[in-house]
Amino acid sequence: MTTPDPTRPAAPGEVGSSPQDRQSAVPISRRSAESEAGARPAGEGGAGREEHARGLAVNELVVHYRDDDGTVALAVDHVSLDVAPGEILALLGPSGSGKSTLLRAIAGLERPTSGRITWDSRDLADVPVHRRGFGLMFQDGQLFAHRTVARNVSFGLEMARIPRQEQRARVAELLEVVGLAGFGDRDVASLSGGERQRVALARALAPRPRLLLLDEPLSALDRALREHLAAEVRTALKATGTAAVFVTHDHDEAFAVADRIAVLDDARLLQVDTPVQLWRRPATVRVAQFLGFEVFVPAADHEWLVGAPGTALVGAPGEPASPGRADAVVGGVDPDASRLPGEPTAAAGEGAVVGGQVLAVGPGALRLADDGPWSGHVVASGFRRGVTHTAVAVEGVGEVTVLGQEPVLIEPGSPVRLDRSPDLST
Ligand code: ADP
Repeated sequence: MTTPDPTRPAAPGEVGSSPQDRQSAVPISRRSAESEAGARPAGEGGAGREEHARGLAVNELVVHYRDDDGTVALAVDHVSLDVAPGEILALLGPSGSGKSTLLRAIAGLERPTSGRITWDSRDLADVPVHRRGFGLMFQDGQLFAHRTVARNVSFGLEMARIPRQEQRARVAELLEVVGLAGFGDRDVASLSGGERQRVALARALAPRPRLLLLDEPLSALDRALREHLAAEVRTALKATGTAAVFVTHDHDEAFAVADRIAVLDDARLLQVDTPVQLWRRPATVRVAQFLGFEVFVPAADHEWLVGAPGTALVGAPGEPASPGRADAVVGGVDPDASRLPGEPTAAAGEGAVVGGQVLAVGPGALRLADDGPWSGHVVASGFRRGVTHTAVAVEGVGEVTVLGQEPVLIEPGSPVRLDRSPDLST
């Protein structure tokens, strides 16, 4: 193992980016990782909350890429977040938003331009990848084709020279955790895609990493399997008490797996919140769009729709967005739960709507009703998983999706009126 070039981030194909480098990032031994971190002088943990933080703290992290022609690209822009021991944080954002770069910087595979990454307040800047005590798992689990399932799972334990009997017990325990009890002697070539990723998960968990970093671990699988496995990944992480950072571009997956979700866009962190708070109070219009909300209207003009299922008020309560105060719509409901002091959670100018609070309207917020307040015409109508989806262009508002149980398709162009959906939870 060679440590990453300390002068600049690794480019594709260089040290730190190859499957071999990734593989060697499986922690060799927890004790060595801790003693390495512990070798640094106490009190180097940085300022503020980070000083006494347990677990991972990322503070004002900046990562640039420099291309051969000298162009500099900003991939991570002053991002601050933390992950408590045992906590699962999802990094959610569109392709190119900086999720993988942030994950790789935490792993030690990218050298930050500025900012700090600490574990239990100890700076990791000089701690190489294999001494951080972190595990890694990727979209392609990169199993060893010539090893059985059990010997794939035991790989990190063999490297750490754990006694064989202990290895066997740990492998059996992990295969049970990932739902593959009895698969130990199987050839990995005989496994399905989902089973292979479960083996990769068991292998990553076997050396008891203090933090597991997962980069789109399910994105090569089909959607139904992905949703199922996301819940299983969560169960396995919780059963082993492993803290994790889980990168995904799929909000359903993030909601299924995470205790908290950090939404990234264009290198910046827009919001960190629990799934429920994120859904109820997206900090900005951009966050709400990314979660699947479709249209945005001034709440004051559409009070009849406020509080309907599938709607959310954008921004912090009691702080309507206004020009020049775009930051007023950030941060979620509970600042203590959602962000660190000084943590940038939104980009200036996002989500601002003149003169009051913004209401985000998502699929299912509206139903067809002859006397409803909104009028429009049908754009398209179809069935998906037993539910009718009707896209309606509402005059002066935009296109919304109306969900219905009745298997009745409506002709495109038909005029319709819409009212709020009944709240089924009351
Ligand atoms: P995500 O994981 O959200 O898709 P990435 O972290 O991979 O995003 O990329 C963030 C930005 O950095 C993108 O603009 C991407 O093009 C750029 N980038 C990523 N890796 C490199 C690299 N090795 N060299 C130059 N630019 C890169």
